[in-house]
Amino acid sequence: MPSPAFHAPDTVEGAVALLSGDPTARPLSGGTDLIVQMRSGRIAPSAVVDLKRIASLSGVRREGDAFVIGAATPCTALKNDADLCAAWPGVVEAANLIGSVQVRNRATMAGNLCNASPAADSVPALVAAGASCVVAGPAGMREVAVQDIPVSPGRTSLASGEFVVEFRLPVRGTRAADAYLRSIPRTEMDIAVVGVGANIELDADGTCTAASIALGAVAPTVVLVEAAGAALVGTRLEDDALASMVEAVTAACAPIDDKRGTVAYRKAMAGVLAKRTVQIAAQRAGAKA
Ligand SMILES: Cc1cc2nc3c(=O)[nH]c(=O)nc-3n(C[C@H](O)[C@H](O)[C@H](O)COP(=O)(O)OP(=O)(O)OC[C@H]3O[C@@H](n4cnc5c(N)ncnc54)[C@H](O)[C@@H]3O)c2cc1C
Repeated sequence: MPSPAFHAPDTVEGAVALLSGDPTARPLSGGTDLIVQMRSGRIAPSAVVDLKRIASLSGVRREGDAFVIGAATPCTALKNDADLCAAWPGVVEAANLIGSVQVRNRATMAGNLCNASPAADSVPALVAAGASCVVAGPAGMREVAVQDIPVSPGRTSLASGEFVVEFRLPVRGTRAADAYLRSIPRTEMDIAVVGVGANIELDADGTCTAASIALGAVAPTVVLVEAAGAALVGTRLEDDALASMVEAVTAACAPIDDKRGTVAYRKAMAGVLAKRTVQIAAQRAGAKA
């Protein structure tokens, strides 16, 4: 592996200057994808810009009722914020399915998102949550929906010199919760064959007032299945509503056929996991009554 330059700025502005001054430089968060890709020769950046030394990029904070998660916050640290775990258990559990404890002590949701793998575990949960991210770059700061960052496997919509500074999770209703489930060929340290994030809101009678379902590993990018959410709104998640939701999920899948799962298997499993994920999210939401 050729030796790239290593920079560790302590301000966002410093990182923007380094990244925009060198189009082949890459941001480094946990390095659990980037270093592996550099070692295998898949990429050879001229420089890496470590974002973990920028204090404002680490940690979870509240702004009103919303949560702001610094882009360099390791996945394991999310579990330490009790309010975040109570409000967005699905996002926290998705981030904490990544790799092993050792991997998660370094890995970030920003790296998971910007690596742009269709199977990235935290992304369906973030998309179902309606999360956005703040992006810094030569033109200043902008806020963009998480689902608009990956554009195809390994590619993002970020312009040269831009990087993710933080995630924003929206204000939560009182009877609202999320969940994430994935299917992998073995019990851990594998990537999803299918991943499903679900975000559900209920009224006092248990009627679903809002629902978002997002799928990972069944298309080139995460798919937000609006028809699946619509099939649940106005129902009490009875069997026929869940069946309509599963039908919409299955129709939205456009997976690849490979040694880890056939097209038919991934489609069927997406439906099975979507139903289970919705039921877990609804049970969590109901328990907040
Ligand atoms: C053993 C092992 C097991 C794994 N298991 C899983 C798994 O189960 N599920 C899963 O989803 N992934 C898994 N991964 C992949 C990886 O751990 C995750 O994708 C992780 O979240 C990447 O985060 P990171 O902070 O390490 O990213 P990095 O490696 O630092 O960066 C990844 C990419 O994103 C870019 N980047 C990083 N930060 C930013 C930023 N703030 N703004 C813009 N671009 C940025 C980098 O330039 C690079 O292109 C595994 C990896 C390993 C080595």
